[in-house]
Amino acid sequence: MYKLKVIDSFSAAHNLRNYKGKCEELHGHNYKVEVVLGGSELGENGLLIDFKDIKISLKKVLEMLDHKYLNEVTIFADTNPTSENLAKYIYNEMKKLWHKRIDSVTVWETDNTAVTYYEKHSS
Ligand SMILES: [Zn+2]
Repeated sequence: MYKLKVIDSFSAAHNLRNYKGKCEELHGHNYKVEVVLGGSELGENGLLIDFKDIKISLKKVLEMLDHKYLNEVTIFADTNPTSENLAKYIYNEMKKLWHKRIDSVTVWETDNTAVTYYEKHSS
């Protein structure tokens, strides 16, 4: 098996609902996002997937979130814009494009805190 990782980032503001503490106030993060895709069959060129194609698709997904107030983005109208929910959202958007090749999405909220979302593999 091969696993490919692509990292990108976006900036956004949010405030957490049903939360007591600093994060209930409006504030922002520079989120780092790691996407991992996997597979075992290389193409004739020796590549699993061209990094360029992953980067382009990730950028499209993150454009929906970049420089937004996440609480006002439709998908987070009823869902708290936590790193957990961001990771799941990005995972599902990437899955639409990459299907079974998507392995996991990690969202770094700070340099020291991150959430990884993945689905159990059926194999
Ligand atoms: Zn926050």
